[in-house]
Formats: sequence, structure tokens, C-alpha cells
Amino acid sequence: MARSNLDEIRVDISVSPRVNSFKPPKIRIISDQAKALMEAGVPVISLSAGEPDFDTPAAISEAGMNAIRDGFTRYTPHAGILELRQAICRKLEEENGIAYTPDQVVVSNGAKQSIVQAIHAVCSSGDEVIIPSPYWAAYLEMARMAEASPVIVPTSTANNFLLDPKLLESKLTERSRLLILCSPSNPTGSVYPKKLLEEIAQIVAKHPRLLVLSDEIYEHIIYAPATHTSFASLPGMWNRTLTVNGFSKAFAMTGWRVGYIAGPKHFVAACGKIQGLMTSGANSISQKAALAALGLGHAGGEVVSIMVKAFKERRDFMVKSFREMEGVKISEPQGAFFVFIDVSWYYGRQAEEFGVIEDSESFCRFLLDKAQVALVPGSAFGDDNCVRISYSSSLTTLQEAVKRIKESLVPLTTRPLVSSH
Ligand code: PMP
Repeated sequence: MARSNLDEIRVDISVSPRVNSFKPPKIRIISDQAKALMEAGVPVISLSAGEPDFDTPAAISEAGMNAIRDGFTRYTPHAGILELRQAICRKLEEENGIAYTPDQVVVSNGAKQSIVQAIHAVCSSGDEVIIPSPYWAAYLEMARMAEASPVIVPTSTANNFLLDPKLLESKLTERSRLLILCSPSNPTGSVYPKKLLEEIAQIVAKHPRLLVLSDEIYEHIIYAPATHTSFASLPGMWNRTLTVNGFSKAFAMTGWRVGYIAGPKHFVAACGKIQGLMTSGANSISQKAALAALGLGHAGGEVVSIMVKAFKERRDFMVKSFREMEGVKISEPQGAFFVFIDVSWYYGRQAEEFGVIEDSESFCRFLLDKAQVALVPGSAFGDDNCVRISYSSSLTTLQEAVKRIKESLVPLTTRPLVSSH
């Protein structure tokens, strides 16, 4: 039936100002272009993925399939099945030295949901959420969504992108409600040493309203001699810390969507309340798969250590390659599967048949154009001097990508600066 003009007029197509205020994720800018090129048959190498390139280990997938076969397909308790929450408590006690009971744990559809719920559960309008930069961009938008104000604390390549406790202290006010720490870090790969976390804890302790959300999702993807310290295990910090972890990264389970939060019951119960309204709980099948993941042994046992070994080999290759490259500054990434390199030396240089490279976004466009390699501009993570390179691809792919990057950058090294940026 034909629609009358009157129908059109009556529909108010506006959406809430809250939604309009969300910034589109910059992380997609280059990867969307790369995808379009690949679909057109261009042999682009994409190093922009935020997920492991491995398949979910067979024992985990099998547990998921068994859950379906056994008819384990109904709603579960909002906070997650008890046996999974018990297994999470055992893991946190044995691997992280933090004691929780199952009523202090909420399992969600991914750690992302755990984080957004935590921010909503503890922040009120006008509260400040302290976020070290470079950051995982979702933290910022999540804080805004909860009507809190993100307060950015910059870090630098020279300092391995680790928070300077004095600078942190200078940013804290009576409105500071939540400090978000991410170690090992996306996007930098930095790992916070225990001593630095202790210094941060001493500062946090001086601010009675301040809580800490410790995002430990990359915990197992860490390279010796670096070791992981859970913030909640530090003296006096248990009461103030919300520990977030999940299965996406270490167990190559991004699509299964399981993560969790653990913390003092009053906060975690508030997260559970939000979850009850939003999703009624995590997927039943994935919870059984997550239980099998925790059954693989300490830190994921042999299955996870094989993946971590491969990541380490690639990390070593990437660090060595970029250390040798002119105009590139690189930190000491000790975890996750990213290197975050400072390429600002190239800004202001004219590239043939391209124009002037102005910033991290045009640097990435240049590489996509000339090297057919897709990276993520650092501006997506609050640091325009840098770009993020994911090494969650095979070593052979990485070798080819590095070769192409080198070949496209070398001609630029003899080009004079044409603009200051
Ligand atoms: N924290 C960080 C730092 C991440 O990089 C991610 C995924 N990109 C998450 C949390 C969320 O992970 P998930 O929702 O897949 O569990």
C-alpha cells in the first residue's frame, strides 16, 4: 500500500541526544577501507585486528557443543552458572592471589559488558573517570554514556606508556570516582610492574571515593620476564577494586562472548542488577565452554602457552624490525599482541602521488595506499603520534607486511619536511 505524505510527517526520526553524542569508533576508519579494497581483490594485509588469529581450542568448543547436545540451552541465573563462578573464584585465588566468593562474581556477555556495567554501577553524573592514554577507546565512550567525565592522563613512549604516579595524583579531585587500569595494555602492550602498581595504590588510598577498575583481559598473553599483578591483590586495594577479565583473548574465544567482573558484593550486585535488565545473563552454551577453558589448567595450561609462545616469537620479530627502521620510536611491549609505534617523524613529509603525511590517520592511509598494509591510527587511542600494529597474524604474513612498510617508508626518509604539524 502506498504511504501517504502524512505518515512521513508524523514520524519523528530523531534519536536520543545521548546516542548522537557517541563518537564513531576511529578504530574502524582504516579497517573499513582495507576491507573494501580486499573485497575488490587488492592483496591487503590487515594488521588491525583486536583478536587472536587462532581457533578456539578444541576442548573448549567441544564443551560448547556438548552443552547444546545436552539441552543446556535455557536461561541461567543472571550472574552466571554457579559452577562457572566457583571456577572463576578458584582461578582468581590460585593465579591472582585474590579471594572472592561466587556472590562477588558476575559473568557477562564479554568483558566489554562487564566494564560498561561497572561504570554505570559506580559512577554518577559529573563523576570523573580517570583513563591513562593511550587507551582502549571504549572506556571513554562508556564513561560518557554514564554521564561521567573522562579525565585523560597521558603517558609516553619513552616511559613505556606507563602512568606517572605524580601526574596521576595531580589529576585527582574529590569528583574522581574510577581509575581504569589496563595491563597488559591494549593498545600499547605495556605491562605494569608490581612496584609501580604499589605506588599507584598508595595514591589511590588517599582518595576515599576513588575505585579502580582493573582490566586484566590480556593477563595470560605476557612475555617473561614480565609478570602480571592483579591490582586487587595489593594491600588495602581489595575493597576498592573491580577486577575484570574474560575468555576472548587468551582462549581465542572472542565470538563466544564471555567475560566477568569480581569485586566487593555491593558493587558487583549493582552490576548484576543492570545485567538482569539488559541481557538476563550470559549465553548458557558459552558459559559451559568458559568452564572448560578454566579446566585447561593453570593459566590455560599447554593449550594457551602454545599460542603465547607464537605471540612472543612475533613480538620479538616486530620489535626488532621497527627498532631498525628509520624515524620510528618503539617502546618495550611485554604483553597482549600489539606494538604501538611513534611515527611522528614522518609527519610533515611529502609522499609522491599522495601528498603530505599530516597525522596518524594520513600515515595509515599512506601505508594502505602504498604498502597495502592496514594499521590503526593512534588517534583512535588518544595518541596521534603513534599507530597500532596487531601481530595476531602468522610470522610469514608479518614478515611480508614489514617488508612492504619498509619499502614504502624508505623513500620518505630523504624527503625534507614541508610542513610542521
Ligand atoms: N578490554 C580490552 C582492553 C579489550 O581490548 C577488549 C576487547 N577488544 C575488551 C576489554 C573486551 O573483551 P570482550 O568483550 O571480548 O571480552
